[in-house]
Amino acid sequence: MSIVAFVGTAFFLYRLLSEQKDATIQLLRETVSTLKDQLVEARRTTPDVLAQTLSARAKLLEAELERMSKDNGATKQEVTVVAEKLNSARAEIEMLAKQVEIAHDLLEDFSCPFCGLPMTVRNYFSESVEYQGREIDVDHEYVEYECGYAVRDGKPENECPGTKLFPSK
Ligand SMILES: [Zn+2]
Repeated sequence: MSIVAFVGTAFFLYRLLSEQKDATIQLLRETVSTLKDQLVEARRTTPDVLAQTLSARAKLLEAELERMSKDNGATKQEVTVVAEKLNSARAEIEMLAKQVEIAHDLLEDFSCPFCGLPMTVRNYFSESVEYQGREIDVDHEYVEYECGYAVRDGKPENECPGTKLFPSK
C-alpha cells in the first residue's frame, strides 16, 4: 500500500466531510474502516520508511552542499541545484508529517474514544423553537459508534461496552 493511496483516502474523507455533513452512513463507515486498516499498515511501514528515506536524502544533500561550498571548483549553479533539491526534500518531509497528522486526527474524530470502533451514525438537524416570542433555530447533533456508544448534543447517551475493559485515557 502506497503512501499516496493512503493520503488520497484521507483527503477523500476530509472532502466528503466538509462538503456534505450528512454523508452516507455506510460509505463513511467503510471509509473509516479502510482508513483504519491503512493507518495500521502505514504506521507499521510507510511513513517511517518514507521519513527515513527522506531524512537520509536530506542528510546526503546537506553533506554535498557542505562539500561544494568548500570546493572552489564548484560553480554557483551547481550549489544552487543541490540547495534546491535539499529544500524540496525538506518540504516533502514536512508534507508527509502533516498528512500523517491529518490522518491521525481524522481517525480519532471518527472512532469511539473508548474502544476505537468506527462511527456509524452522525446526524445534524436543527429545530425551530420559540424563545421570548421569537423563533430561533437550535442545532442538534447525534453521533453513534459501532459499539453502541452514543452522544447527543455532546452528552453521552449510551455507554461504550469497552469502557469497563478499557477505561478512558
Ligand atoms: Zn466504544
